[in-house]
Amino acid sequence: MDIFKRVDLDKSPANQTNNVKTERIKCLIIGSGPAGYTAAIYASRANLNPVLYTGLQMGGQLTTTTEVENYPGYPNGITGPAMMDDFKKQAERFGADIRFGIATAVDFSDKIHRVSFDNNTVIEAEAVIIATGATAKYLGLESETRYAGMGVSACATCDGFFYRGKDVAVVGGGDTAAEEATYLAGLCRKVYLIVRRDTLRACKAMQNRVFKSENIEILWEHQTIDLFGENGVEGATLIKRKGTPEEEIVKIKIDGFFLAIGHTPNSEIFKPYIETDKVGYIKTIPGTSKTNIRGVFAAGDVQDPHYRQAVTAAGSGCIAAIDAERYLSELK
Ligand SMILES: Cc1cc2nc3c(=O)[nH]c(=O)nc-3n(C[C@H](O)[C@H](O)[C@H](O)COP(=O)(O)OP(=O)(O)OC[C@H]3O[C@@H](n4cnc5c(N)ncnc54)[C@H](O)[C@@H]3O)c2cc1C
Repeated sequence: MDIFKRVDLDKSPANQTNNVKTERIKCLIIGSGPAGYTAAIYASRANLNPVLYTGLQMGGQLTTTTEVENYPGYPNGITGPAMMDDFKKQAERFGADIRFGIATAVDFSDKIHRVSFDNNTVIEAEAVIIATGATAKYLGLESETRYAGMGVSACATCDGFFYRGKDVAVVGGGDTAAEEATYLAGLCRKVYLIVRRDTLRACKAMQNRVFKSENIEILWEHQTIDLFGENGVEGATLIKRKGTPEEEIVKIKIDGFFLAIGHTPNSEIFKPYIETDKVGYIKTIPGTSKTNIRGVFAAGDVQDPHYRQAVTAAGSGCIAAIDAERYLSELK
């Protein structure tokens, strides 16, 4: 059952009982990660007077990490929060109106797009840029949270470099897990691939790359139940063949623990109008940020199942602002 139905914002109970403020603008940006702020920089400089709503996580995913070493322009690296503060300041410098608030419902049925926010505001915008990101899935262990940034990561491309010559584990059996394990095998001494089943879901080509890597050891039918270590991850406790007569507790020594069990794109509220793939990534016309709705554009991780990097998110934020500017000038 589709629980996210199209909403008539005027008739929604919230709007009838509260004093809802409606505001008409040219360009609305939803999300304050690299994609949203970059879109805001370009849209401001193109005189679109953008309003950007930050969402709960002001600055996006990078505010949860320490060192960012692969973003061009920072030769000595920079912390995620400091980098996102720079993005925000740069957007503000050109006049972007940055507000705290969460988009709760949308109505994209008309030429003017309407987005409801949790502060009783409905924004009516000619162009909307969706830059709401994606959230990595975790196993739900308490120790994952305890060691966040101290050995636990959901991004091998981002953090693999910190584990050069060390032993790490990757959790998952799909394409992403196979890809992350292969990538880490080129950097690390040993990579354990922790797989719940006795087969990989990854495509044959990816499986072959895993099987060919001499320093990847697949732990079939294993599940992680805990992580341990004094000042960071030093090992993981696994359960082998859970619920069978051969059930066994196994401990492995590792320095890094990489989750590769998927991401959830933050696209739920848009789904009644915007086409997504089966995981929920917003579909855009290749080479553009255009969605199936005219005047609604998507940028960053919410539309990117493949790369999910700050620099690619920023690049697509730029594309979205340029697409929005061209769309608006065609309307005139
Ligand atoms: C721990 C960690 C470390 C990383 N390290 C690196 C690295 O070193 N280098 C690198 O290139 N990449 C790194 N990444 C990946 C990088 O953070 C992402 O690719 C990038 O942040 C994606 O940018 P984005 O703008 O698409 O979305 P996000 O950064 O995810 O931002 C999404 C924004 O949307 C907002 N939002 C969501 N829903 C709503 C809503 N309903 N209403 C309003 N706002 C909403 C959120 O509050 C947030 O501001 C890392 C990721 C993580 C988790």
